[in-house]
Amino acid sequence: MTHTALLLDGRDWKHMIIAAADAVDEAVNELSRLDAAVGDGDHGVNVVTALGYARSELCASGDLLPADVLKTVARGFLDEMGGAAGALFGSLFRVMARSFGDTEQIDAPQLAEALTGGVETVMRRGQTIPGDKTMVDALVPAAAAANETAEAQLGVGESLTAIAASARLGAESTISMPASRGRAKYAGDKAIGVADAGATTVAIVFEAWAATAAERNGE
Ligand code: ADP
Ligand code: MG
Repeated sequence: MTHTALLLDGRDWKHMIIAAADAVDEAVNELSRLDAAVGDGDHGVNVVTALGYARSELCASGDLLPADVLKTVARGFLDEMGGAAGALFGSLFRVMARSFGDTEQIDAPQLAEALTGGVETVMRRGQTIPGDKTMVDALVPAAAAANETAEAQLGVGESLTAIAASARLGAESTISMPASRGRAKYAGDKAIGVADAGATTVAIVFEAWAATAAERNGE
């Protein structure tokens, strides 16, 4: 199996981010519908704007380090999107970029370490824990899957597959939760029966990353 040999270089991260931007484009109405059920209904357009900015910047740039790709994504969320979710997604990607440093090829332990640090920052800044019906409900199981696969010495491709599956389960787990964070907290029990928009975005982005890595592995 060549699977365990896969490492993610700057080009891979560029393709992964472009795939994530394309995936949220497809899901824009669904994401806004989820946000509208409990919030102001702008989430789809917000993430499309942030990742669309990253996609156009990355398409226009030459070879980049993995950290530089994620810094571009962070700028999209921090400068182009704004709001509570923009600041939180921005911190996630900025902390991950810092953790990558000048590493040229990311392996499973490096991905696990970066994601863990990023998720901890989101929880601290957002004052959120799992169960609050936010993006954290997808991010925390994703980071746990990253650490488990890295400890089991699986490759980064398998790691991304596990990260995506855990994020999706986490997003689905928010369906039965009342909202207690962000604007959605005013909706309270009205939120029960509808998945959290930010958690769903996390699942969509990580699924796009896993699919891109799987394609790359099949080359
Ligand atoms: P806004 O709430 O500013 O309109 P968005 O609609 O783009 O921003 O994003 C809403 C999403 O942000 C929610 O679905 C939730 O996942 C996430 N979110 C909001 N507040 C917090 C928080 N304090 N901690 C973690 N995630 C949060
Ligand atoms: Mg909103």
